[in-house]
Amino acid sequence: MTRLLYTSDLHGSQAHYLRLLTVAEFLKPDLVVLGGDLLPDDSAIDPKVLGHGQPEYVRTQFRENIVNLRESSGCKDVLVIFGNHDWASSVPAMEELARADLVTILSHTRRVRVDGLSFLGYSCTPPTPWFVKDFERLDKPGDRPPLLGGACWNSRFSRPVHHGAEVLFEDVKTIAEELAVVRAPADPWVFVIHAPPLGTNLDRAYGNKSYGSQAVREALETHQPLMSLHGHIHESPTVSGSWRDQLGKTTAINPGQNSRSLCYVFAEIDVGAGKIVSVESGQQA
Ligand SMILES: [Zn+2]
Repeated sequence: MTRLLYTSDLHGSQAHYLRLLTVAEFLKPDLVVLGGDLLPDDSAIDPKVLGHGQPEYVRTQFRENIVNLRESSGCKDVLVIFGNHDWASSVPAMEELARADLVTILSHTRRVRVDGLSFLGYSCTPPTPWFVKDFERLDKPGDRPPLLGGACWNSRFSRPVHHGAEVLFEDVKTIAEELAVVRAPADPWVFVIHAPPLGTNLDRAYGNKSYGSQAVREALETHQPLMSLHGHIHESPTVSGSWRDQLGKTTAINPGQNSRSLCYVFAEIDVGAGKIVSVESGQQA
């Protein structure tokens, strides 16, 4: 039996990371999975700070939080993806933590396997009204760029480069094109994707409008993982009334998030039988 604790969209909130520590200490999961938007927003005003604050945070407070999490819960690994609020400048810092065996960064091209349960991950969302664009893509070929631009990290010059949306999304693959290379593992597997699938209980913003990804939905319908874990639309469970949905054989989950309590999901998976034995949502005040 694999016991998995999942939460998303902590946005560098120290109160949330301490709540996660409390929950993990109590539940003693085998694996902790973090579904993106891990880091605090940098100031969007001072160009000298922009894109530099997050890697500094990863190397200091985030690292300390992960060390404490692993020590107090005894979990075997902490699996992470990024989200649309995270700068690409944080990737090398997170890779340092991965080399120190503190976290494992999931991707859609390389399977990670723990006790017979496999994981793939994908960090990008369709375009948002927010400023950082490193982990944003147009959803499908032929989609029109949004009106608002933003900035992408330029690693060569070590600073963000500001552009209109037409330029930002030009010559960048769409989510559908990137996910086209996914090969479903033969084992029972979990797909961790920051963006929820379009038109489900998991992608409803206030006003009940869907902001998920059609390409993500199609990838899940095609590859049918045992479970998919999402975030991004914090209010969706409140708006839709549910933190889960079913796409064929795939149980898709977005625990949601808010500032007053940590929203999480705890699942027990019988890997040998390829079955979810139980899955529950919880909140830690
Ligand atoms: Zn978020």
